[in-house]
Amino acid sequence: MSVRDNIKAIEEKLPQGVSLVAVSKFHGPERILEAYSAGLRIFAESRPQEFAAKVPQLPADIEWHFIGHLQTNKLKLVLPYAKLIQSVDSFHLLEAIDSWAVANGRVVDVLLELHLGAEETKQGFSEEEIIRIVSETSSFPEMFPGIRIRGLMGMATNTDDMTVVEKDFERIEALFNRIRAFGLEGFDQLSIGMSADWPVAVRHGATMVRIGTDIFGPREY
Ligand SMILES: *Cc1c(COP(=O)(O)O)cnc(C)c1O
Repeated sequence: MSVRDNIKAIEEKLPQGVSLVAVSKFHGPERILEAYSAGLRIFAESRPQEFAAKVPQLPADIEWHFIGHLQTNKLKLVLPYAKLIQSVDSFHLLEAIDSWAVANGRVVDVLLELHLGAEETKQGFSEEEIIRIVSETSSFPEMFPGIRIRGLMGMATNTDDMTVVEKDFERIEALFNRIRAFGLEGFDQLSIGMSADWPVAVRHGATMVRIGTDIFGPREY
């Protein structure tokens, strides 16, 4: 199937109001343009160098998201071009993004990444850490003037067992709803679901799904 057909097949099943984020990592500009001409406008990358090299080659009305682990010495490659950093996974990174934003007169939208799933290597905050950050920033907005926390991101356990995936998404959905009750301004995005599990994520309140393989096929490593 072509990229266009793949997108159509996903869009037919995706409920209104859930954003489709096309994960274009490891795919070149031509493939990205195929998805663009099929109507997609939100794309996500996970490696700073690759991200910075691609952005100038592609249409300016693309909304770029960053979804990979971000080291603070790579911020300059990413923050000027990204509309949303989905993968904030440490307090240190929050502080560094805030400093960059203040120095550049910007406010950066971010999602906090919850460590979901069994994999030990996976990045992310614990639930307690996320609650603490959100409580502190709502009590003391002057703590991070350069950051707006827009919601949560998570990756489910990498398994074919959908009952495990379901439990992971239940957990992040519950945390998301708990935090929404704090009334934090702009906290309205839940980014869960990838090619293998996005229909499950949609049932658990996803407001955006991040899909690579189901759009572009296997990555061109
Ligand atoms: C690569 C990646 C995706 C997309 O994965 P697919 O299985 O190709 O859909 C989604 N989210 C993150 C954080 C990724 O790194």
